Amino acid sequence: MSAEPTRGDLRVLILGGTTEGRLLATACRGLAGVRTISSLAGRTDNPIIPAGELRIGGFGGVAGLVAFLEAEKIGAIVDATHVFARTMTEHAYAAAQQAGVPLLLLRRPGWTERAGDRWQRVPSVTAAAEALTGGRVFLTTGRQEIGAFAGRGDCWFLARSVEPPQPPMPARMEVLLDRGPFTVEGELALLREHRIDVLVTKDSGGADAKLVAARTEGVPVIMVDRPPAPAAPSVPTVDAAVTWLTVRAAE
Ligand code: NAP
Repeated sequence: MSAEPTRGDLRVLILGGTTEGRLLATACRGLAGVRTISSLAGRTDNPIIPAGELRIGGFGGVAGLVAFLEAEKIGAIVDATHVFARTMTEHAYAAAQQAGVPLLLLRRPGWTERAGDRWQRVPSVTAAAEALTGGRVFLTTGRQEIGAFAGRGDCWFLARSVEPPQPPMPARMEVLLDRGPFTVEGELALLREHRIDVLVTKDSGGADAKLVAARTEGVPVIMVDRPPAPAAPSVPTVDAAVTWLTVRAAE
C-alpha cells in the first residue's frame, strides 16, 4: 500500500504532548482516508514519538498556525494538548476560525472529590502557592510554574517533573524526575517516606493514583482548577475523537 496521501485524504493536525494525542495518532493509522501530522511543543528532550508524521516546535502564534494549516492543507484539527496548555488551545481556536478548519477538543474529564477526600480548589498555581500553610509539600504541577512557589521558604517541597525545573524555585526542595504511569502503592510509599503534609496538583484528569494515595493517608489536596475551554466541540475519549474524524473524512 502506498505511503503517499491519496486524493481526498483528510489531513489531520493533532496538537499533542499527551497520552491521548499519541493514542489518537496510533488509532488513526487504521482509519481509511485519514492522515495525521502530530505536533509537539518540543519541551521534553526525549518525547515519546507518536505514529504518523511529526513536527516539533511552536508555530509562531496564530498567524504562524494559520499559515501552517494552509501550507499543509489541513482539513481538521484535534487539540489533544494538556488541559492546562491554555495558550496553544486559544491559538488553535483562533487559527481554526480564521482558516475555516473544523476543530475538536480532546480533553480528559476532570477529577471529582470523593468521600474521604480533603480538597481545596484554587483558580491558579499562584493561588495554590498562596494557599499553603507550611509543612512538607508534594508538588506535581509540573516544572514550568515552579517559580510560583519560590517565595515559600516556610515549606519543604518534593517536586516531581519529567524534566529538571529551572530557577526561580524554592530553596528547600528535592526534585524527583519521573514520568507516569504511577501506581497507588508507589504514591503511598512516596507520601510516607517523605512525610508529606499536603499534595498540590492540577486538575488534569486521567490516572489518579496520587489522589487515591492522598485519600488513603488523609493527606489534604490543593487542586488547581482548569482554565476555561474555548467554545469548540469537545470529546472526552480517543474513541470519540476517532468517530468525529471518521465523519469528517466521509464528508
Ligand atoms: P502553552 O503555554 O499553551 O503554549 C505555549 C506555546 O508553546 C504555544 O503558544 C505554542 O507556540 C507552543 N506549543 C504548545 N503546545 C504545542 C504543540 N503541541 N505543538 C506546537 N507548539 C506548541 O503550552 P504549555 O503549557 O507550555 O505546554 C506545552 C506542551 O506540553 C503542550 O503540547 C502540552 O500538551 C504539553 N503538556 C503541558 C502540561 C501543562 O501542565 N501545561 C502538562 C503536560 C503536557 P507558538 O505560539 O509559537 O505556536
